[in-house]
Amino acid sequence: MKVTIVGGGFGGVKAALELAEHPNNHVTLISDKPDFQYYPALFATATGHSHRQSWIPLETIFDDWPNVELITDEIVKLHPDTRQLVGKQGTYDYKTLILALGSVTTYFGIEGLDTFSYGIKSQDEIRRLQNHLFEEMRDGSDDEKNYVIIGGGATGVELAGALGEYLLVLRRHFGIRKKRLRITLVEAAPRLLPRLSESTSRKAAARLKRLGVHVETDKKVERQTAESLMVSGRPLSTQTVIWTSGVTNAPFFNNNSEHFTINERGKVVVDEFMRARTGIYVIGDNAATPYAGLAQTALHDAQFVVRHLNGSKKTYRPVQPASVIPIGHHWAVFEWGRLRFAGWLGGFMRMSADLIGYHDVLPIGWAVKAWRSQDKQELRIPDEPAILEEG
Ligand SMILES: Cc1cc2nc3c(=O)[nH]c(=O)nc-3n(C[C@H](O)[C@H](O)[C@H](O)COP(=O)(O)OP(=O)(O)OC[C@H]3O[C@@H](n4cnc5c(N)ncnc54)[C@H](O)[C@@H]3O)c2cc1C
Repeated sequence: MKVTIVGGGFGGVKAALELAEHPNNHVTLISDKPDFQYYPALFATATGHSHRQSWIPLETIFDDWPNVELITDEIVKLHPDTRQLVGKQGTYDYKTLILALGSVTTYFGIEGLDTFSYGIKSQDEIRRLQNHLFEEMRDGSDDEKNYVIIGGGATGVELAGALGEYLLVLRRHFGIRKKRLRITLVEAAPRLLPRLSESTSRKAAARLKRLGVHVETDKKVERQTAESLMVSGRPLSTQTVIWTSGVTNAPFFNNNSEHFTINERGKVVVDEFMRARTGIYVIGDNAATPYAGLAQTALHDAQFVVRHLNGSKKTYRPVQPASVIPIGHHWAVFEWGRLRFAGWLGGFMRMSADLIGYHDVLPIGWAVKAWRSQDKQELRIPDEPAILEEG
């Protein structure tokens, strides 16, 4: 069987690995970047932990799989009538296609955010943020520094829990004693983690408070300039705003909307076998399924589609993944249906979930290496945080 997959993320890599187990299968995996990005660890890399846990070269993952061909290209156009994909570097024929392109950042049109805010969704964004944090810390002045994180979802909460410790490490490194550091987490909904239960939300807010984070819920971000952020009509003086709030479906689908049915959330409508059209499967963040937007859903979708391609007649059944959100060192909130707890046990669950997550897409040796590097702080000073140089 010949299958072409676009997207070297959770869904695409998992589908390729599952297909590659049969030596008669030939997989072409096309992705716009040469690395697999482990999103759940980005907040840790952004706050000085090892980059090894966040980016793993696709070549390493598929080293032992000769029936997987890797192509680095950005696909821009689909021609289903001739079964062709058009990329920026070339044109590719396909027989069966799996699309797993993930999501991109959106600022919901809020003025100034695209120019002045920082993000943690890619290597470039993290490098830019770290350079800025380094520069700010060593600028010599002793005044108060305000760090504002926008978005009280999982990423914002994780980042808020880790940023304080990182800033203290930077401050110690630069020998700064007096500079006051204030971290504010802003959320538009009335509570943090609005997709989880109220009790989990309360525990997360209490934990952040203990870590010294100032939480502002029910607050709307209206505008950002170089020196301030307008929040619900009140200006907040800051030069560091980190946007973790909005994502939207990969633009490929809007650019090829004549070939897909797209729902009101911008997701692609798929049938009970995850097909958007004959011979085209859409999975992970891209598909209009109840739990799209989580890595575990993308892995689940990939396994489902491969089983279907192997002849299974079972229809798609969404599975609610557990949520484990680390807040500070070895501490996390855990929620899975009615099972909820918080504390070091949550931290342990998160470490276990990460080990399983790495193992899902990496050879075991690499999975353990990536997982063990989680606790390593990589403070490269003075000039560049060396998150890219080591590949
Ligand atoms: C900061 C952050 C933290 C997160 N933390 C968690 C977490 O803790 N737990 C959890 O379950 N989920 C988490 N998520 C969500 C999770 O990462 C996604 O749901 C998951 O990655 C979706 O998998 P996917 O295969 O659909 O897309 P992705 O994993 O995003 O993969 C998409 C791939 O397609 C490539 N691509 C995009 N467009 C093109 C194109 N036109 N041509 C070629 N290639 C293309 C991309 O470069 C990427 O390699 C997080 C997300 C973010 C942003």
